[in-house]
This record gives sequence, structure tokens and C-alpha cells, in this order.
Amino acid sequence: MSAYELLVIGSGPAGIRAAASYAKAGGKSPIGIITADMDEPYMRPPLSKDSLVDGPPVEPTPIGPKVPKDAELRLSTHVTAIDLENRTVTAGGEQVGFGQLVIAAGATPVPFPEADADADIHLLRSLDDDRRLVAAAQRSKTAVVIGSGFIGCEAAASLARRGIDVTLVTPEPGPQQKRLGDYVSQQIASWLTDLGVDLHTETEVTHIDAPRTVHLSDGRTLAPDMILSAVGIKPLGGELAETAGLQTHEGRIVADEHLSAAPGVWVAGDSARGINVTAGRALDVEHWGDALQMGGLVGRNAAAASNGSGEEPESWKAVPGFFSDIGEHSIQYAAWGDGHESEKVVERTGGFTVWYTDADETVVGVLTYNADDDYERGSGLIAEGATLTEAVSGAQPQEVES
Ligand SMILES: Cc1cc2nc3c(=O)[nH]c(=O)nc-3n(C[C@H](O)[C@H](O)[C@H](O)COP(=O)(O)OP(=O)(O)OC[C@H]3O[C@@H](n4cnc5c(N)ncnc54)[C@H](O)[C@@H]3O)c2cc1C
Repeated sequence: MSAYELLVIGSGPAGIRAAASYAKAGGKSPIGIITADMDEPYMRPPLSKDSLVDGPPVEPTPIGPKVPKDAELRLSTHVTAIDLENRTVTAGGEQVGFGQLVIAAGATPVPFPEADADADIHLLRSLDDDRRLVAAAQRSKTAVVIGSGFIGCEAAASLARRGIDVTLVTPEPGPQQKRLGDYVSQQIASWLTDLGVDLHTETEVTHIDAPRTVHLSDGRTLAPDMILSAVGIKPLGGELAETAGLQTHEGRIVADEHLSAAPGVWVAGDSARGINVTAGRALDVEHWGDALQMGGLVGRNAAAASNGSGEEPESWKAVPGFFSDIGEHSIQYAAWGDGHESEKVVERTGGFTVWYTDADETVVGVLTYNADDDYERGSGLIAEGATLTEAVSGAQPQEVES
């Protein structure tokens, strides 16, 4: 039986950063990373952006933190069970021992529910999904994208930039209207329509017949050359964790403020539901930067635990945030992620900032477009619970959480 001092499940940003920061913090060797992914670690964000505009060939962008030199990376290998009592996992039919365990299993797209089993519908999460999507795009003149979340909007824009006639179908009144409010939704809608995307809002796809006949709730039927469904994701790792006796919530693994789910078991990224001490509650986040940040934290905490250094574990306190590129328009967003009561738009030269507030006019989110200085102070203002007046007046945060 092979055994590792640190075993990481997953080769996304959370897993790779965890291994890198564990090694940097002097955690004991050997380190093992077991991943279901078939490719060396790569960045996911370009998959709905440049690689859809330019490919083929689909050139993966290597992930930011490198796999530590002496770590063993096992590709195309699923962890199918975790045994906390014996401190082993089952992977590729083998028992693998661990001292510290990081579960960073990420998430997978939810398949489109109302479709014939053999309908030709693309999903996008992995590099391999992207290879298939790009191959389809090469053969296509028309596409239907279902869903107006970030992946749907980004992919629709990229396919349109590629010269494909894209129809985006969404039940929302406008792209991301529920999450980001009317103003940003209208901006995104105009960026998409400027690229030639045909937006069908307040419209549902009622059924897809094989191979590619799309029925809409307004009675119309579309027959595109390709279909991409981007209707949400489902966290992974929850079932494994539950069978091992760990607590889960809606598929995510529940963790404390140190992102620990059990002694010597750490979770990070899309599959985690940890306590964020600044928010004072559990948060679910699905963002690249947060996966990196959480991975770094659990790597350092696992290193301290493996060395028995007696160091206090770090707590998770950063305000979650993400970036998105819709065509050539880049936006950044930081927020607690559980909605807002009102929004205040501040026009900036060549851009704008939207401050989101709760019922007490406390800032709970910020979105910026060509206004990096507002974004930079925005996370700090959200963390300290600043008022809208302070945010709009240009006040600087007391302390910016990183
Ligand atoms: C197309 C696309 C574009 C995106 N763009 C942005 C963006 O612009 N900005 C942003 O903030 N976020 C973006 N995201 C979201 C971001 O990529 C995710 O939040 C991030 O990848 C989560 O990292 P993670 O490490 O938690 O999980 P993942 O990156 O999903 O990695 C999980 C890893 O676990 C492995 N795994 C799962 N189950 C098992 C198992 N049982 N055994 C072994 N291995 C397993 C998987 O194979 C994978 O390697 C985008 C996502 C996609 C798909």
C-alpha cells in the first residue's frame, strides 16, 4: 500500500495550491495528488473565453501554483472511498494511506434535465469538454446556449466572436439579473447583442429532442448545429465524504473556520462549505480566486498539523470574489453571495461601479467595470460592513482582508 503524509484529492486550483503551500510551509513528504482529470493541471477560466474564440488547437494554460517537485500526481484516477478510521482512500482499486487529507473535488455541470438521453448537448467544465466543444464549434454555423450565468454569457460571447450565430436562452428577464441586478444585466445584454448574440429572455427550453431540436416555452423550435447547456453545477466529493461519516450540506462538505472537516481532514474550493469568520457564517463559493485562496490556507494548516508545530491554524476570512470576461469586457465582483436589497450605480470614466447593499444600507457586494480602485477597496469595505455613503464617498477600508 502506498502512503502519503499529505494526500490531495483533485488537481484544480484548490488542490494544487494546497499541495504547493503545504510544501512551502515545510509539511512532511511524501505528497500525493490523485485526480480524476486526465490532463496535467490547467486553468479553467480560459475554457469559456479565449480557447473558444481561437481554438483549435486547445492549448491549456498551466495552473498558477506548480505541482511541488517531489509530489506524485496520479491522473485519470477516481477516489471512490475514504476510510477515516484507517486513514486510507480507495483509488484505482488500491488502498492509499494518508496522514493529512485535503478534499478539493470541485464540481461538475448539472446535465440539462429535459432532454432525450441521446441528445447532442455539450457541458463545459474540463479541458476535455472544451476539446469537444471546440471541435463542434469548428463544424457549426449556429449554436444555442442555455443559461445566462457567467459560463453561459462568456461562452455565448466567445462563440459569437468566432463567427457563429448564437442564441442564448434564459428564463431570467436579463442575463444574471437576479444575482447582479438590472443595471449590470442590461450592460451584459448589450455586450452580448453587440456581438450578435440573439437573446431569448424569460424563455425556457422545455425539451431537447435528439440530436439537436430545441423546443422553447414561447412555442418556437430551434435546430442549431451545436448546443451548450450551462444551467449550473453540482459539487463533487459530498457523497464520498458522507459515506466516510463527514457532515455535508447540499452536496458540499461542511467544515469549520479553519476549513477542517475532521482531525487532519481539510476541504477547499467548490466542494467546501466552510465558516467564513468575517461573514460569521458558512459560505458556498464557486470562484477560481477563492479556490486558490482556500487551498493555500488548508495547505498551511495541514503542514502545521503534520509537523506538530503547535501553530494556531489560520481561519478563512477573505471576502469571496470573481472576475468574468464577456467578449472584451472584464468585470470583477466581490460579495457575500446571498443577495442584496438595493444597488447604487456610480459612473466612472469608461466604466462603472455598482455597490450592493442590504436593507440597512450596509455594503454587501461590489461590481466594477474599468474601476479597479473601487474593486480594490471594495472587499475591505464589505469586510468591515461599511455604509453605502462611505463606499460612494471614496472612504478607504480600515483593514483589507486578503
Ligand atoms: C469554463 C469555466 C470558466 C470559469 N471562469 C471563471 C472565471 O472567470 N472566474 C472565476 O472566478 N471562476 C471561474 N470558473 C470557476 C472556477 O474554475 C472554479 O470555481 C474552480 O475551478 C474551483 O476549483 P476547485 O479546485 O474547487 O475545483 P475544480 O477546479 O473543479 O477541480 C476539482 C478536481 O477534483 C477532481 N475530482 C473530482 N472528484 C474526484 C474524485 N472522486 N477523485 C479524484 N479526483 C476527483 C477533478 O477531476 C478536478 O481535478 C470557471 C469555471 C469553468 C468551468
